[in-house]
Amino acid sequence: MQTSAVQKEYDFVIVGSGLGGLACANILAMEGYSVVVLEKNHQIGGHLQVYSRDKSIYDTGVHYVGGLDKGENLHQFFKYLGILDKLKLKRLDNDRFDVIRFGDGCEYAYAQGIEHFEEQLISYFPEEAAAIRTYCAKLVETCSKFPLYNLETSGESYLADESVLALNAFDYIASLTNNIRLRNVLAGSNLLYAGVKHKTPFYVHALIMKSYLTGAYKFIDGGSQIAIQLSRSLRQHGGQIFKYKKVVAANYDDKGRITEVVCENGETFRGKEFISNVHPVVTIDIFGQERFLSIYKNRVQALEDSISTFLVHVSFHDNTFEYLNYNIYQHHLDDVWGGIDYDKPTWPQTYFICTPYISKKGKYADSMSIMTYMNASETEEWAGTFSTVAEPGKRNEAYEQFKKEREAKVIAKLESVFPGISGMIKAVHSASPLTFRDYIGNRNGTMYGIMKDSSSPLRTRINTRTKIPNLHLTGQNVSLHGILGVTVSAFVTCFSFIDKEQLIQKVKNA
Ligand SMILES: Cc1cc2nc3c(=O)[nH]c(=O)nc-3n(C[C@H](O)[C@H](O)[C@H](O)COP(=O)(O)OP(=O)(O)OC[C@H]3O[C@@H](n4cnc5c(N)ncnc54)[C@H](O)[C@@H]3O)c2cc1C
Repeated sequence: MQTSAVQKEYDFVIVGSGLGGLACANILAMEGYSVVVLEKNHQIGGHLQVYSRDKSIYDTGVHYVGGLDKGENLHQFFKYLGILDKLKLKRLDNDRFDVIRFGDGCEYAYAQGIEHFEEQLISYFPEEAAAIRTYCAKLVETCSKFPLYNLETSGESYLADESVLALNAFDYIASLTNNIRLRNVLAGSNLLYAGVKHKTPFYVHALIMKSYLTGAYKFIDGGSQIAIQLSRSLRQHGGQIFKYKKVVAANYDDKGRITEVVCENGETFRGKEFISNVHPVVTIDIFGQERFLSIYKNRVQALEDSISTFLVHVSFHDNTFEYLNYNIYQHHLDDVWGGIDYDKPTWPQTYFICTPYISKKGKYADSMSIMTYMNASETEEWAGTFSTVAEPGKRNEAYEQFKKEREAKVIAKLESVFPGISGMIKAVHSASPLTFRDYIGNRNGTMYGIMKDSSSPLRTRINTRTKIPNLHLTGQNVSLHGILGVTVSAFVTCFSFIDKEQLIQKVKNA
């Protein structure tokens, strides 16, 4: 980096190039602000990063997205950001984009479109038609209370009705029916939000479920294209992105405003406003513990993160395993909320299966991703090690052995879903909680960041504004995780600088 760029004062300095950082950067650059994004890794995108081994491309934190049918929320947000027509997308099967599968081999397919979904569920559980209709109506009603989700800035809002945030997902679904299988089917994709029985609010379930019902798509040849397209778009609007820039501290003026951030290599970036796309706890460390009120710091530091994951990627021998244009949520327990609270000997009881769509492979799958739950405590022994491409480090043989054992357990379980699959596998790779911790820069490899809790909804809410007058937050810890949730968070962050009504009108007009 040249001296001249170091001395430039940007309107916005954004720490982290996850989706939240890149989306904010684009929104602000499109409004004419000068913006720089600083990323610690060799690759931009955070969870949007992919990696390749033996000529196969593996997604790390995005397997499919919802809300992409014409006119739906994410479709419109991506259109406004100028990337929609540049993304290579594959719509999942209309009659089965997700399949909820149980240990007894029974499968229940989710269909796209709320009415289609409802009718198909009723065909599985005709005697439960009333409960299913009530559930679908509640999904729609709950989502209608989140104006931005519906590209609105006013109207009936969850803010005026705290009961929306306090309704628990498990309790609400259980209140609809005594049919345990139906309860499990309705919450069967709860790995999407790492659902915890007495904590996950129904609104989290509803916002995510409804988004997938309104257009579920995979990214052809990998999800990193979102980050690539956003970075191209940003550069076209004059924004800059620098990789290998790990922000470690900030300098302040005598009014308590940040003047510049300091990178690990000593470089500094001056700015008027600063946005952190990094986990709030890490943000507090970077910007100085002493700069935050104890009450805020203590609350944020005490918040529980969602569990981490052990993500297994297998590649297949040519033309052996047929591509699945849907995902599977496999539950070996008759309680879809139970797999997160696992016993080591029976792990994994719950996992997500998907085959990425690789254009040159056509009918056959190139690889499969299997996402399981894993507590960070399982990799505690190696917590003192660190390894990324940008900061290479070594973990010992015991760690490699741990990973191999866990991979073998996952593949053994997978055999019960796809008998004979082991013989089709060419290579196996995996990412542990430590991989996610190091690449994303959070405390413990959490999948979705701070966990929302229906019993204390306000305590688990993170505001985009902080007590430091020119420090703002964005990303999955703000509104909601996931591609849609983080995109919405970016808009919420930017409302501090751009008129809300005008901005959302632009999104609608895009
Ligand atoms: C296994 C897994 C599967 C998922 N699958 C899906 C899915 O199929 N669909 C979906 O919608 N969502 C999915 N998600 C969730 C989704 O990927 C995330 O919610 C979202 O991408 C998070 O974006 P973010 O803006 O919060 O930033 P993050 O992705 O958390 O990125 C933060 C960025 O900040 C950088 N950074 C950290 N510290 C520093 C520092 N000190 N200096 C500079 N840079 C720094 C990091 O390197 C990173 O690039 C999945 C998540 C996981 C873990």
